[in-house]
Amino acid sequence: MNITFFSIPAWGHTNPTVEVVRQLTTRGHAVRYYTFKPFRSVLEEAGAEVILCDEFLPPQPADLDARVGKDFACLVEMVTDSTLALDEKVMADMTAFYPDVIVSDSVCFWGKLFARKLDIPYVCSTTSFAFNRHTAPMMKPKGRELLYSVLGLPRIGRCMKRLKAGGYQVENFLDLIQNDNETDTIVYTSRTFQPMAETFSERYAFVGPSLRELPPEREEAKKRPLVYISLGTVMFDQPDFFRACSKALGDMDVDVILSTGKEVGAADLPANIQAFPRVDQLEVLRRADVFITHCGMNSANEAIWFGVPTVLYPQQSEEGVVAARMEELGLGVRLSGHKGIRAAVETILQDPVYRENTRRLSQEFHRCGGAKAAAEKIERCGRK
Ligand code: UDP
Repeated sequence: MNITFFSIPAWGHTNPTVEVVRQLTTRGHAVRYYTFKPFRSVLEEAGAEVILCDEFLPPQPADLDARVGKDFACLVEMVTDSTLALDEKVMADMTAFYPDVIVSDSVCFWGKLFARKLDIPYVCSTTSFAFNRHTAPMMKPKGRELLYSVLGLPRIGRCMKRLKAGGYQVENFLDLIQNDNETDTIVYTSRTFQPMAETFSERYAFVGPSLRELPPEREEAKKRPLVYISLGTVMFDQPDFFRACSKALGDMDVDVILSTGKEVGAADLPANIQAFPRVDQLEVLRRADVFITHCGMNSANEAIWFGVPTVLYPQQSEEGVVAARMEELGLGVRLSGHKGIRAAVETILQDPVYRENTRRLSQEFHRCGGAKAAAEKIERCGRK
């Protein structure tokens, strides 16, 4: 089969698809992936033909960081601009490489729009929890998000008009963002972890985390517990939080690995703390005893996969939903602000219930099928 992938420029949305691509190309399918420069090598290494879309992205607003996850209209505008900018190229490409199926990230709406325009089977790749009208109220927008939502409605309306004029079928913006029970969807977690799983049809394949295989672990005498800290790859620029962690854990009998997201001076770090701009998170997690996490969906899935209990420090609504679910299932304890970091780590280390709950869910994750199950779903959805 010919398979075309689309994703947005974000590690969290790209990582789970890498192993799916590897599965598909190993099974003899031709995969073409529309993506961006930072993701080129990892996708090519998995066997995809990469098409770079960087030049088609609209210029980012100067205050993008403040808007990420809050200003929905801003996202819709960027999607509309990208779709229309890519239109001519993608339509021409598709005649040379006509896909039997298009796989597009759940927030990379242009993949869905291209599939509709060309009447090609579409599979939605969802790296967050699956989202429908039942789960939507869990997002609980507040403050600035609510304000942005109300002020953004006319801007969203204008985007819908521009898309329609470009030949794209969109009823309204809900139709753009929401998947119904008729949409073939891959979700990289399990039905137990997914809130309100019973509201999603069998068209949803809950395949669990799609992770690369790690080489066998080296036998090393373990000295003391390992605490891993990361705020992910988007909203990581929080030096005050990292300083608070360093202060709280600096004189504890633990080792700490800190992924800071960017180069930071390590001059005044306590001896038991090592900081890196980026780590191999899977390698670290498989040795870790506690993970202080922003509750990005990938980080949450990866922690559960390795049975690592968590200290929850969500920053955005979507992460708040993940944190709430982890709390509900007894997988971790939530931080309020920068206080209580040490107490939270001590609780996780001393009370075995968090590790036991996480390990139980981990066993279900390992039975879900991962990248192989995702590849099989895509094969089933391709044009017959
Ligand atoms: N990650 C990594 N090294 C790091 C930090 C993050 O490999 O030092 C990976 C992590 O394994 C996960 C992804 O980056 O797959 C982060 O995705 P997540 O959904 O957790 O958060 P986001 O970065 O999208 O906020």
